[in-house]
Amino acid sequence: PSQDRVFNFAAGPATLPENVLQKAESELVNWRNSGMSVMEMSHRGKDFVSIIEKAESDLRTLLNIPSDYAVLFLQGGATTQFASIPLNLCNPNDSVDYIVTGSWGDKAFKEAQKYCKPNVIWSGKSEKYTKIPSFDDLKQNPDAKYLHICANETIHGVEFKDYPTPKNKDGILIADMSSNFCSKPVDVSKFGIIYAGAQKNVGPSGVTIVIIRKDLIGNAQDITPVMLDYKIHAENNSLYNTPPCYGIYMCGLVFEDLVNQGGLVEVEKRNMKKAEILYNAIDGSGGFYRCPVEKSVRSLMNVPFTLEKSELEAELIKEATKEKMVQLKGHRSVGGMRASIYNAMPLAGVEKLVTFMKDFQSRHA
Ligand code: PLP
Repeated sequence: PSQDRVFNFAAGPATLPENVLQKAESELVNWRNSGMSVMEMSHRGKDFVSIIEKAESDLRTLLNIPSDYAVLFLQGGATTQFASIPLNLCNPNDSVDYIVTGSWGDKAFKEAQKYCKPNVIWSGKSEKYTKIPSFDDLKQNPDAKYLHICANETIHGVEFKDYPTPKNKDGILIADMSSNFCSKPVDVSKFGIIYAGAQKNVGPSGVTIVIIRKDLIGNAQDITPVMLDYKIHAENNSLYNTPPCYGIYMCGLVFEDLVNQGGLVEVEKRNMKKAEILYNAIDGSGGFYRCPVEKSVRSLMNVPFTLEKSELEAELIKEATKEKMVQLKGHRSVGGMRASIYNAMPLAGVEKLVTFMKDFQSRHA
């Protein structure tokens, strides 16, 4: 990265590829001879329509999205989807299943309680959200309208490496992929809905991406606000009202960049390498650093860790910041440290962090 950039380990909004930011800067005041910025364009004009269509098409290429799925660019963050999903798929008396592997899955479950009858069929809370359940042991409700998971728990660093087969009558699996979206290939056809806030792997906050099987669209409860109704957005190609135009443009630049990098198979390889280096440093520290998450389900994106001497945590964060490695403080609900190493975190950033951690240990062991 250029001299004046830091390595930003924030969980979101998160670091973006520098070449993408530079491209956006070069087009900032005059997008491709249009004489204006993307921020100033009509969302119904041909220029912006070409931008959103290209973004969708590159995302479809990246994730190999089947044609019977709609791609929606919405607002309100993943949090809004916690309500939109039950509102669009359920009647108030319908039951639905939630697997809760961390704080985000828990929030999704709690919001659904307002609009239908959700059941937590498995919770990792008593084990401090360090595990993913064995799928064989799950007691799914055959009458449930859907099974909901959070594919990667951003705060606890727990990631599904495979997905449970939904045993509900319509076979619908729904995943919050906010913090591992586009970090690896995914078989979209296994899901009824995949949704993600953009601000970790693919763009700025303000854009929420929903990939939904088309037959699930069109059954919203009567009380559903227009802005939460998938049918309205699908029929209008995400242009029912003024969308977050600039954010969608930025997501489009990131998708193009990921395609140019060779697609998600290549992206996953790089992410695995980065995660391996960091987890190995933690596990190889003789207990000085510790990651509480069960090894087989550790996240490739968010790496939480603690110090055996917890009184040194503030010092570690302070020294790292001085070395231009920022935002390493763990979430306020769990403490410790957390290094988020999304797609745009270069290998050099992880290598620098690991070198620093070893040096810190040698000075404080
Ligand atoms: N789900 C996950 C996994 C998250 O990491 C986050 C945010 O950090 C959210 C949902 C909430 O997203 P938003 O802030 O876009 O509403």
